[in-house]
Amino acid sequence: MRPAILTPYFADIESLPGIGKRTRGFVEKLAGTRTRDLLFHLPSGHIDRSYKPKIAEAADGTIVTLLVTVVEHRPSANRRMPYRVICSDDTGELTLVFFNARADWLGKQLPEGELRLISGKMEHYQDKAQITHPDYMVDPENPDDMPLLETTYPLTAGLSGKVLRKAIAAVTATMPDLPEWHDKALMEREGWPDFLTAIKSQHHPDTVADLSPTSLQRRRLACDELLATQLALAIVRERTRRKRGRSLKGDGSIRAKLTKILPYTLTGDQQTALGEIISDLENERAMLRLMQGDVGSGKTVVALMAMAAGVEAGVQCALLAPTEILANQHLKTIMPLAEAAGMKAALLTGRNKGKARAGLLEELAAGEIDILIGTHALIQDDVAFKDLGVAIIDEQHRFGVKQRLALAAKAAHGIDVLGMTATPIPRTLTLTAYGDMDTSLIREKPPGRLPIDTRIVPIERLADMAAGVQRAVAGGARAYWVCPLVEENEMLDLAAAEERYASLKNLFGDDVGLVHGRMKGREKDAVMQQFASGEISVLVSTTVIEVGVDVPEATIIVIEHAERFGLAQLHQLRGRVGRGSGKSSCMLLWAPDAGQIARSRLKIMRETEDGFVIAEEDLKLRGGGEILGTKQSGLPELSMVDYNEHADLIELARDDARYIINQDPELKGERGQALRHLLYLFDRDEGVRLMQSG
Ligand code: ADP
Ligand code: MG
Repeated sequence: MRPAILTPYFADIESLPGIGKRTRGFVEKLAGTRTRDLLFHLPSGHIDRSYKPKIAEAADGTIVTLLVTVVEHRPSANRRMPYRVICSDDTGELTLVFFNARADWLGKQLPEGELRLISGKMEHYQDKAQITHPDYMVDPENPDDMPLLETTYPLTAGLSGKVLRKAIAAVTATMPDLPEWHDKALMEREGWPDFLTAIKSQHHPDTVADLSPTSLQRRRLACDELLATQLALAIVRERTRRKRGRSLKGDGSIRAKLTKILPYTLTGDQQTALGEIISDLENERAMLRLMQGDVGSGKTVVALMAMAAGVEAGVQCALLAPTEILANQHLKTIMPLAEAAGMKAALLTGRNKGKARAGLLEELAAGEIDILIGTHALIQDDVAFKDLGVAIIDEQHRFGVKQRLALAAKAAHGIDVLGMTATPIPRTLTLTAYGDMDTSLIREKPPGRLPIDTRIVPIERLADMAAGVQRAVAGGARAYWVCPLVEENEMLDLAAAEERYASLKNLFGDDVGLVHGRMKGREKDAVMQQFASGEISVLVSTTVIEVGVDVPEATIIVIEHAERFGLAQLHQLRGRVGRGSGKSSCMLLWAPDAGQIARSRLKIMRETEDGFVIAEEDLKLRGGGEILGTKQSGLPELSMVDYNEHADLIELARDDARYIINQDPELKGERGQALRHLLYLFDRDEGVRLMQSG
């Protein structure tokens, strides 16, 4: 149950002034349905109204606040003409311009002969100073009616800044104080304000500096959010480890067989990762480890060796994959190796039904299956192992904590869990996403990979590029052609891709296909299949080509307007080629007017193929969690945190969270109770629920 003190924070936004049935939908789209969501909807900018020149001094295009006398109203002669109000000060005249004005209202706002403070954007029309639709017209006796520093917010069509500001002001005016959840010593050392003061200052700043990510207020809020995140992770970690694990010590016999069968030896990084995993398995404590490595870095074989060690020690293993394609791919790789080494592997997905499924489950319960590979179907209640000891979760970030716990619940003992991810993220960020796990890194690629020839080409040369692709295709090559991101708008993305598809059709005829996010799964699969089989040679696509797409024959990727993509995303895209034995190339088409910073970003792509280096650079250059493509990278979307400026707080929050859970695992003490508020406030209350479920 949510503590009562938080009720006002979770009131419906419709209770706020200015938000009705119609506006509710817009606000929901933008922020959410609770007052808390509005409180957390931070400004994206500000308008400074403190510049108060005389009329004659005011420069064109600046936001000004002018003290003027209202001289004369000039109502519009007809509907198409604006209503004008002439004002003046001792340096000149100012015309206020209103379209579709209500004369009676304007008469009241601007009585002739009186002084008014007018704020808005200065313009000059035929050399005359004017302001169209001033933002504020206030009586100088009540200067507080106009904020000198006004926050601006991300908006959506149909919702004005005014309405949003008014609603947010109503929230900040009424929320109750909350007991402090941070450590006293930390608060004193950092000089932080309390939570409510900090968040209020973001909506009603005294100075521009208050809005900076380095301000005390923002650092406090960032730490709030990070602590909530880390605390939830720490709770899960504690729960996962609560059941006693056991020491799994194999005799090495199956691993020895595998080593013999494998046509290669493990790289140094693979050996190190495997060593870390084996020592976790042998340890009494349950393993909770994440293995990070680019696509193609050879994680699967390490996972297989780990499972072999488990089977040697007499337990069963599960390998969970997010999609059927990936589960199938794993089966294809693992099955022949497993069988040759004397292990039985099987596949369980949503497709297994009826008798076949029942038979499989029987074998599983009898302990006849050593390795079960599958999708979410693995977690279903009736899937029972004889003795599950090791769980491997591929593309870990695509699963929730819930699924991990559900899998762990299938074992009587604490099981050893190994997560895997192919999305490199910077080290500091690993803590925010996977703060509860230990990590192993595979940076080194298996030997024999040819480097990808990456080039940066001005977009004007697009026609040359297309001709080059045509020549390569004539020689048997296959190419991806990725279309530009157009803002956050799927429809515009699609239009751009369709246009490119049409123009490439002139060149390639039936040899080109199109995939995009709006297509149904089956249609998409069909086109992908055509590309994989070589029926078509060029594949035009929008934004991201799905993970799991593996066409080793594809050796060319063209990315239009590469400057609009994040580096991490470019890296993922480039990873679609260079998978076979052929030499691959990646053409980054960029618009030179995007500037030098854009170019230096792209140069990093040319200089390295190391996903970790690229991820670090991406973070440095763009500094944003949102830009990294949070969904893809598995990073939580944190609204208060600037991953660059607040990097030091990430570690602090992680350590504090582990300390807290160590001291007060049920969050029962005074600070523990306050921390429960924090968890609710930041939607991490699944942690609280987990504690209650025991
Ligand atoms: P990941 O799962 O990390 O994407 P995979 O395990 O699928 O990568 O490995 C990619 C390819 O590299 C596979 O074809 C695999 O057989 C091969 N491979 C893995 N390790 C090595 C190695 N040490 N030497 C040579 N090839 C390797
Ligand atoms: Mg893989």
